[in-house]
Amino acid sequence: MRKPPAKPAYFNFRRLRGGVLAVGDLGGWALLTPAEFKAFAAGRLKPGRALEKLEGAGLIASRLDFDSLSAAWRDSNEYLERGPGLHILVLTQNCNHGCLYCQAGSGRGAGMSAATARRAVDLAFSSPVTGLTLEFQGGEPLLNWPALKEAALYARKKSAKTGKELALALVSNFSLMDKAKAAFILENDISVCTSLDGPADLHNANRPFSGGNSHALAEKWIKFFQERRGVQPPGGPSALLTVTRASLPRAREIVDEYARLKLPYVFLRPLTPMGQAPKRWGEIGYSPEEFLAFYRAALDRVLELNRRGTPIKEKTAFLLVKKILGTQDNKYVDLRCPCGAGLGQLAYDVDGGVYTCDEGRMLARDGDFSFRLGGVRDSYAKLISSAPVRACALASSLDLQPACARCAYKAWCGVCPAYNAAAQGGFWGDMPANARCRVLLGVFDHIFASLTDKDNLKIFEGWLEN
Ligand code: SF4
Ligand code: SF4
Repeated sequence: MRKPPAKPAYFNFRRLRGGVLAVGDLGGWALLTPAEFKAFAAGRLKPGRALEKLEGAGLIASRLDFDSLSAAWRDSNEYLERGPGLHILVLTQNCNHGCLYCQAGSGRGAGMSAATARRAVDLAFSSPVTGLTLEFQGGEPLLNWPALKEAALYARKKSAKTGKELALALVSNFSLMDKAKAAFILENDISVCTSLDGPADLHNANRPFSGGNSHALAEKWIKFFQERRGVQPPGGPSALLTVTRASLPRAREIVDEYARLKLPYVFLRPLTPMGQAPKRWGEIGYSPEEFLAFYRAALDRVLELNRRGTPIKEKTAFLLVKKILGTQDNKYVDLRCPCGAGLGQLAYDVDGGVYTCDEGRMLARDGDFSFRLGGVRDSYAKLISSAPVRACALASSLDLQPACARCAYKAWCGVCPAYNAAAQGGFWGDMPANARCRVLLGVFDHIFASLTDKDNLKIFEGWLEN
């Protein structure tokens, strides 16, 4: 029997250096030569390797395998029925550092009370998820040690009672860590993450600390936890990098510093226009293109180190490659559709205010309460069905965003209503003029350019195996 003509299924495309990328709605993709692409788009592709590739990617309308496509869609969107799994407790706004880009809204005031912390834990456990993560943040959360202890112990008890899996996580600059606190953290299986902006001079210039050497303290406690828990996740400590203007010429040194400290991931994150950053943009900010030049140099250094046997990954590349080459993993709440605001995470402020996410909470520091859902005394049902959760779900649905709906990277991307509100004054944003979108486009372009090199492809595949 003659096969029906090779009419294309719905697809988006992007011209890249290595050819033309065609991508279906569910992330099936094929990189074609310009001639193959022309024939494909016109429905005139002759039998051969390109057609087989396109069939396998679900890009030929008459040859779609609906069973496997719908199963893949269900798997990748399963989180929508589960409720928020990440719960961020902001234990204090106080901090002993004066980071140039501070986004946590540091200030002076009382910390979260033990009663509020317990109520936040109760709310977290009301989410219908089977497993949840409680993350302790600030300011510097170690400045409110009593609330941290109370919340951790109370959550462990609730976990034992309800049977829900619980992961506890601490994000700290480590400057107030001591043996007693570290012992509690180890005993209660709390994972730790710190900030590390690169070599000591760069880190300390970005993160002034009048009480001592911030970099030395971060290094000391990274090594302490590595000795006790190993270097690999989920037990080993991790670190977050914020890129400032001073970081731009130092991509290789920054990656090398992460490799020196045996950190398994370096996460190349651009500044966001929240907290202190917009006030000092002239001093520490940069354009998306400047960030992308830095990103490309840093990712190339990561790949070079991998070729020499150093097992380090770049986190954004890892998350995207996982989606592109593997299964649609939607655990990372900022790159999914709809985004994780309320649907994947909730943030609890010092005063008991509940927000869609930590970024939404940060905006309230500057007087924008659009992302506030209510307070810890409200019911879970009321909070989760509140207007900000619904507005974020709509504004981060990529098919409703005109530029995203026709973007080749839609299947793996995500927009951020909190970023849009901060940068462009509304949940929806305007993607053609949106700096976050320009960065993502450039990162995707570079990842696809890297994927076309056989050695790099092998490295990326190795990342997914480990
Ligand atoms: S945010 Fe930008 S890169 Fe992402 S899908 Fe939308 S248009 Fe594409
Ligand atoms: S609004 Fe932005 S920061 Fe908040 S969950 Fe959505 S993507 Fe993440």
